[in-house]
Amino acid sequence: MIPKDARVSLDVEEIPKRWYNLAADVPGLEPPLNPVTGEPAKPEDFSQIFCKEIVRQEGSTRRFIDIPEEVRDNLIQLNRPSYLQRAYRLERALKTPAKIYFKREDGSPLGSHKGNTALAQAYYNAEDGIHTLTTETGAGQWGTALAMVSNMFDIDTTVFMVRGSYNQKPMRKTLMHMYGAKVYSSPSEYTEFGRRILKEHPDTSGSLGIAISEACELAVKDESTCYALGSVLNHVMLHQTVIGLEAQAQMEKAEIVPDVMIACAGGGSNFAGFTFPEIHRKIQGRSECDIVAVEPKAAPSLTQGEFRYDFGDTAGMTPLLMMYTLGHDFIPKGIHAGGLRYHGMSPLVSAAYEQGLCRAVSYDQPETFEAGVLFAKHEGIVPAPESNHAIKAAIDEALRCRATGEEKTIVFCLSGHGLVDLYGYDQYMEGTLPSSA
Ligand SMILES: *Cc1c(COP(=O)(O)O)cnc(C)c1O
Repeated sequence: MIPKDARVSLDVEEIPKRWYNLAADVPGLEPPLNPVTGEPAKPEDFSQIFCKEIVRQEGSTRRFIDIPEEVRDNLIQLNRPSYLQRAYRLERALKTPAKIYFKREDGSPLGSHKGNTALAQAYYNAEDGIHTLTTETGAGQWGTALAMVSNMFDIDTTVFMVRGSYNQKPMRKTLMHMYGAKVYSSPSEYTEFGRRILKEHPDTSGSLGIAISEACELAVKDESTCYALGSVLNHVMLHQTVIGLEAQAQMEKAEIVPDVMIACAGGGSNFAGFTFPEIHRKIQGRSECDIVAVEPKAAPSLTQGEFRYDFGDTAGMTPLLMMYTLGHDFIPKGIHAGGLRYHGMSPLVSAAYEQGLCRAVSYDQPETFEAGVLFAKHEGIVPAPESNHAIKAAIDEALRCRATGEEKTIVFCLSGHGLVDLYGYDQYMEGTLPSSA
C-alpha cells in the first residue's frame, strides 16, 4: 500500500514570495572584517567583486526579503516547487518504526539545489550591467548551475574547476561547455595566483579555496566582471531558503511534524536553505526539532574546526569571516563529494551551531556510499555523493529508532542526484573506494 503522504506537492503559485534571513534572528553573529584594517568590513570591501544588490543582501538583517518576479518565474524552470517525498520503501527495508521524508532538490535539471541562488545572483548582476561572472566549482554542480542560468540573463561565465574533479568528472565539464561556459582546471595558468600555486605545488589536486582565489582575481581586475559564490556567504544562505520554506508549507499540508531534520554541509547552503526556517521557529520557541549538519571526515569544519576569524579563500583575498574553520590553507583529501571539500563553514551556520541551535556529525567516505547504494536500491534515485552524507545520518537515526521503538519523523534534504558521479559508485561497487578519514 502506498501511503497517503508518499509525495507532498505544492502548486506553482505556492513558490515562496520572500526569502527568510536568519541574520535577523540568530544571536552572536559577528561581522566580516577587513583583513588590512581589522575593522568591520565596509560595503566597498565587497563591491570590488560583487554587484550592488548582492552586497546589500550580504549585510542585511531584514527578516524577510522579497524574491523578484523574474527570479520567481524562472524557479519553475528549476522544477520548483520540489516534492517532499516519503521513503517508505527504505523504511520497510530498515524495519524502522520511524517515518523518513526527503526534499527533492535532485529534481532540478541542473542536478542540485545550486540553481536556487545561481538564478538570483545572475539576475542581480544582469540588472547591474555586469557582462561576465567568474566562479569556482568543486564537483561541478555550482559551475553547471551558474553556466546555465547565466544564459537566461545574457551573461558569460568563466569557471575554475578544482583539478581533482576536472580530471575525475569530465562529463561535468561537457555540461558546462554545453551551457556556454569557459572552464579552466584550477590551479590554472590563466591567473597570477594559479601560476604561483602551480610553481610551488605542480602536482596539487587543487581545492575550492584556490579556485575561489583565481575567480576573485579576474573579478578584481575587470570592472564589468563580478564573482559569484555558490555557498558560505549570507546572501547564498538567504536564496536557498526557498527549500525550507517550501518544506514547511508541505509539512503543514500533510500534518508532518519533524523530530529530526538533516542535511549535508560543505559551505552550508543546502543545510541553511533547508533548516533555517525551522531554526527560526526554534528561536521563537515553536519547535524542538533536532537539526543535524552532516560533514565528511575529510573536511570536518564544524566537528573538528575552530570558531574564529579566517579567510574564505586560500590566497587570503576575501574579508575575514567569523566561522568554524580548519584553516584557510587546509587542503582536504580528495573525495567524490567534491562539494563538501571546503575548509570553513558559513558564518550563519557557524553562529547557529555555536548557539546550540543545531548539531553536527561526520562520516567517512565508504559508509556514505553504502548508505547511498541502499537508498538507490529501494527508492530508485541515485544520490549525489554529497547527499549520501545526509542519507547516512537519516538511516542511522532510523536504525536507532528500530532499537528503541521510537516513532520519530525524520526529514532530510536530498541536495542532488549522482548520475554524473557514477565513477565513485563504480569504485564502491568494485571495493576500491578509499577511506577519507
Ligand atoms: C555543492 C553541493 C553540496 C554542498 O554545498 P552546500 O553549500 O554545503 O550545500 C551538497 N550537495 C550537493 C548536491 C551539492 O552540489
